[in-house]
Amino acid sequence: MIIDIHTHTFPDAIAYKTIASMEEDIVRGQGIHVKCARIPTVKGLEDSTKKADIDLSVVCPVATNIRQPEKINRLSVELNEKREETRLFNFGAIHPDCENYKQIIDEIVAMDLKAIKIHPDYQNTFFDDEKYIRLMDYAAEKDLGIIVHAGEDVGLPETVHCTPERILNLWKHIQPEKLILAHMGGWKMWDEVEEKLLGLPFYLDTAVVLNPIFPFKLENEQFVRMVRKHGADRILFGTDSPWYDQTKAVNDFNNTDLTQEEKDKIFGKNANDLFDFFG
Ligand SMILES: [Zn+2]
Repeated sequence: MIIDIHTHTFPDAIAYKTIASMEEDIVRGQGIHVKCARIPTVKGLEDSTKKADIDLSVVCPVATNIRQPEKINRLSVELNEKREETRLFNFGAIHPDCENYKQIIDEIVAMDLKAIKIHPDYQNTFFDDEKYIRLMDYAAEKDLGIIVHAGEDVGLPETVHCTPERILNLWKHIQPEKLILAHMGGWKMWDEVEEKLLGLPFYLDTAVVLNPIFPFKLENEQFVRMVRKHGADRILFGTDSPWYDQTKAVNDFNNTDLTQEEKDKIFGKNANDLFDFFG
């Protein structure tokens, strides 16, 4: 079973425009040209998921202002109704500036969206800010998962809002049970992640970290060492599609030196244990 815990889709009307501007941000941020690896719409992800033989792609929607969550979450429910056919599941969205965060979280729970995605860089808020602490505390109380972008963002490298230090600081206040730090705990900050974070009881996803298109990928040796140091039970397979071709991501992960048992856990078992996607 393969579950891709970290993917993105963009609304049909603005998908190409959004991707073009993100690609420009990557050139500005990293000095490299990275092309998005599939058609960026919902249909594009559905086709890519089936081609890669992935059982479920989980979409992590990011709200960039306080007006978006309600709309995004309603759409997530609609899309989740077609899950059997599309193999896509959408998490919920929330913004740290939402003063009605409790109400939004209650709705997300009622809509069975299973988790919320937060992105400190796109939401312009540090991860250990009181606004995140209060909403994550409430989400955890309601047994929701929380997936957070961690480390540098390819397009917004100037200020990193979710560093290992800030994660540690947040951890002093709250310890959500279902917290997933994307990109193996911090994109481009893996040495610091290794030194400070590994072994603490949160989950890490593998989104984009093995993608050889980026000059800053995790090498096999460090990747395997990090997985074992942290524990293969707490690592989830993710791609960050469309920023990594899903078929290639499955192959690249299969080509690491992890054992088959470790790969099976990471590919799907851990995510299913956490969120019960397939019962
Ligand atoms: Zn992402």
